[in-house]
Amino acid sequence: MKTVDEYNFAAKRALVRVDFNVPLDDGQRITDTTRIDATIPTIRKILGDGGSVILMSHLGRPKKGHENKLSLQHLVSYLAEKLEVRVNFADDCISESTGRKAAALKPGEVLLLENLRFYKEEEAGDRDFTAKLAALGDVYVNDAFGTAHRAHASTTILAEFFPNDKVFGYLMAGEVGSLNKVMKEAQKPFTAILGGAKVSTKIQIINYLLSKVDNLIIGGGMMFTFIKAMGGKVGGSMVEEDLLELAKNTIEGAKSFGVNLILPTDVMIANAFANDAEKKLCASDKIPDGWMGLDIGPESITEFRKIIKSSKTILWNGPMGVFEMDNFATGTRDIALAIATASSETGAFSLVGGGDSVAAINKFKLADKVSYVSTGGGAMLEFIEGKTLPGVAAIEG
Ligand code: AMP
Repeated sequence: MKTVDEYNFAAKRALVRVDFNVPLDDGQRITDTTRIDATIPTIRKILGDGGSVILMSHLGRPKKGHENKLSLQHLVSYLAEKLEVRVNFADDCISESTGRKAAALKPGEVLLLENLRFYKEEEAGDRDFTAKLAALGDVYVNDAFGTAHRAHASTTILAEFFPNDKVFGYLMAGEVGSLNKVMKEAQKPFTAILGGAKVSTKIQIINYLLSKVDNLIIGGGMMFTFIKAMGGKVGGSMVEEDLLELAKNTIEGAKSFGVNLILPTDVMIANAFANDAEKKLCASDKIPDGWMGLDIGPESITEFRKIIKSSKTILWNGPMGVFEMDNFATGTRDIALAIATASSETGAFSLVGGGDSVAAINKFKLADKVSYVSTGGGAMLEFIEGKTLPGVAAIEG
């Protein structure tokens, strides 16, 4: 994988695609700077080599060209403060005046372009638009993993204009390297733990993982579709009736792949979907009517923990229960802890990702105890569904 470390940026103008899609409040102040902060090492490396940087990003979903509230101008002062250099701003992406600003950049200088999505050509992957972007720089750096599953002008097509001068930024390299470690170079035993609300949003992942993993643990709301498919009684738990057949096929598929598919044997049930609902433990296939399963039980936690402990590679996506309610967060917390322990004590490589798993690992303050937390969202999910990400392929190819 070619990264910024393998490239000398001295006297080069680097076109860097970043993900500065940060939340802004009504006064256009940044409310969470994580995404900007995460790109600073890549920018610093280029400037440190004696290169200059042209930053490109989208922000929000503009519908009709320029919208002041989605202007990247609002990010300039924070970025300058963080980088401790002056940040020039171009109030469009491809005009002659922007071309002049880019051409005039001296080593160590930074130019931020206006929101790429003010141009419909960006999402369309338009070649003329891309050629104009390409003319601004000498080398292309992609550090925006969150948009790597989109074949947009700045995320994918631009790489074609730099066949010998295209590299991954640190952030992107971290994501791709960690995902490759799990999906392409996994050390065995490999255990995937899937949870969350719905089978329908995870079915492609499950089917792809069957050819990869040794153990597949299924928890969260989606377990009940599997338990019902096997003839269990799930009371008022969340079930996708139209997917019962599919769940049955998946169970059969696991057998034919020799995958150990593990479902919880006990669950914490509640008489309402509320933190203060009455709750009790129950066998996962004998839930009375009027009750619903909102977390996995202690017997299941013990069994899952044993499997996690003996794994060399662990992928976790989706909470084991309704972890947002403290009374039903135990299963998710204990599984997060087991993953953290396996990572630190037995040297397993663990990757945690997908919206709610990231929220969960942060809630339990364990993010720094697992090997890697992917913030790639949709891009990460597509990767673990086995899809090729155009933004990654464009740099690797
Ligand atoms: P997902 O976005 O599909 O990963 O689903 C995450 C959501 O699933 C979280 O908001 C959880 O509260 C919810 N969830 C997990 N377990 C259950 C359950 N047993 N019943 C209902 N919702 C659940």
